[in-house]
Amino acid sequence: MDIKANLETVKKSFINPGCKLIAVSKTKPIEDLKAAYEAGIRDFGENKVQEIQAKQPQMPNDTRWHMIGHLQSNKVKYIAPFVYLIHGVDSFKLLKEIDKQGKKIDRKIPVLLQIHIAEEESKFGFDLKELEEMLNSPEFSNLTHVTIKGLMGMATFTENENQIRKEFKGLKSLFESLKTRNLPDFVKLEELSMGMSGDYLIAQEEGSTMVRIGSAIFGARNYSGA
Ligand SMILES: *Cc1c(COP(=O)(O)O)cnc(C)c1O
Repeated sequence: MDIKANLETVKKSFINPGCKLIAVSKTKPIEDLKAAYEAGIRDFGENKVQEIQAKQPQMPNDTRWHMIGHLQSNKVKYIAPFVYLIHGVDSFKLLKEIDKQGKKIDRKIPVLLQIHIAEEESKFGFDLKELEEMLNSPEFSNLTHVTIKGLMGMATFTENENQIRKEFKGLKSLFESLKTRNLPDFVKLEELSMGMSGDYLIAQEEGSTMVRIGSAIFGARNYSGA
């Protein structure tokens, strides 16, 4: 697997060269992360707390760790000190726990709210009703140790491009409409994390600012025994 060549191919294909690339290194050995680092990558995405904890000390200090998977509240404390951005905040309960852990170490932890945009029930994320309830609750305005940097979403796993595009368009329009709202100062809507190996070009056409790309860089993942 020529990671450097793959990275070049992926970057060359970008429709928006300013879009940030998160290299999704979950299940991959540290040598692969180092190869990507050597090729200039600083942003890495992982979806398991244990794995991110194991890899973090083995990589240079300027590596930026993105937690992209479903995060359990009881594990927030393990990544709170060093995580660069938590993409998958999918409940108010989790956001409150991140705030609590941030308070303990006096760090404002940057997060994205994950919105449920796919048809599949299995995918995580706020639905619109849950999001409104949270935004309107007094408890929300009292948060002190989180910074909400934007939104994240995953499209349905399908070959149907129209459907994927429709879902990304929906997320983008929610993003724009939230920007016009009067929300607390810790809500800074700058990033829209959408797009993976199979759909990042559609995502960029629809306004993504951050794509999370794994297999197109590191090759297919092998989960057997992992
Ligand atoms: C695994 C994963 C990715 C990357 O998927 P690829 O199809 O390999 O690019 C992106 N986002 C999330 C949330 C993931 O879990």
